[in-house]
Amino acid sequence: MRGNSSTSRALNRRLILNLLRRHGPVSRAEIATITGLSPAAVTFVVAELVEESLIVEREAVTGATGRRPVPIDINYEAHLAFGFKLNADGIDCVLTDLATNPLATWHAPISDTSPDGMIKAIADAMPQMLADSGRSQTEVMGIGVSIPGEVDVRNGICRRSPRFGWTDLPFGQLLGERVHVPTWIDDDISAFAVAQKLFGAGRDRRNFVALAVGTGIGTSLIINAEIYRGARNVAGRFGHITSVPGGRLCECGRRGCLMAHAAEPFMLETWRTRRRAASASASASRSDFVAAVEAGEADALSVLEESGLRIGRHLADLVNLFDPEVIVVGGEAVQFGEALIGPIRRAMEANVFFSKPELLPDWVPGSWARGAAALATQGIFDFERSPSG
Ligand SMILES: [Zn+2]
Repeated sequence: MRGNSSTSRALNRRLILNLLRRHGPVSRAEIATITGLSPAAVTFVVAELVEESLIVEREAVTGATGRRPVPIDINYEAHLAFGFKLNADGIDCVLTDLATNPLATWHAPISDTSPDGMIKAIADAMPQMLADSGRSQTEVMGIGVSIPGEVDVRNGICRRSPRFGWTDLPFGQLLGERVHVPTWIDDDISAFAVAQKLFGAGRDRRNFVALAVGTGIGTSLIINAEIYRGARNVAGRFGHITSVPGGRLCECGRRGCLMAHAAEPFMLETWRTRRRAASASASASRSDFVAAVEAGEADALSVLEESGLRIGRHLADLVNLFDPEVIVVGGEAVQFGEALIGPIRRAMEANVFFSKPELLPDWVPGSWARGAAALATQGIFDFERSPSG
């Protein structure tokens, strides 16, 4: 490693922390062998990271050939991160350890989507969740917030959120000043992708697509182990590809976007219309739709088929352009299982030029907020990013 000593120290720290994240506990000697660092450099950096309680010595195992070397591991339990996923009707909150394992969850209802309202709800939720988990604020290393909209990650500014009516809002800075904890913000799908890259199905992948289907449809492109953001932070806006020229009005103000013709609001509305045509009951909530899918109702399945085929056809274009190793699928619609994933896969495979990447659903309720928490924990693994508040 060239460069000045502080640069190479930072690189060595990152190298060792990421090795431990991907391999789990290994000895100092193994770290030196795998990374190519000198044993002296490994000893030095490990001592520094132990001092900061970022890594810890685990119990050595005694085998047939005697006591094995002491394994070194990331001290996941010693540091906490808050994750907040902003929605129009409330905030999904989670307190996690460094591996984004949830320690406390909370739903903060909000009456207005003004920045002040959101920040107050977050500030109120934090002590509640610390109390629930019996932990203290001094253990918190950061806050991550995921926002539906366009986010300038480097400066912590929400450039535009049609769902909340925000423009050029320095949300990261405003929140950081209020709660006095380093704060990171990003858009929902990128936050999900960060969590997938650190601890999910994308952990050992350098090139993959994270696809989310829920209220909207979005993708995040991970290219050479980094999120590809584009020149203006708006790369990967898969849901706003024109699918039906002149079609349904999208929340972005244009017509015929993929999300307007395939995301959950489309599914529900189409299903309701078909039920009405069949003179069925007018009441049809999302949970009624879920129940209908689970019961194998033909109308519900055909709606999922239609959405899935449309998504899959456009996904094939993305695969042709970027040739990802896998496609990690998240979002609330993953709940529909093969009834949705199946048609997506079929249409993608029927329309790709060559490669047929596997679709890997990886979603549990709470994944959005855990993605937000990963924005804070990833600061440890990637020293290029600094908090905005
Ligand atoms: Zn749109």
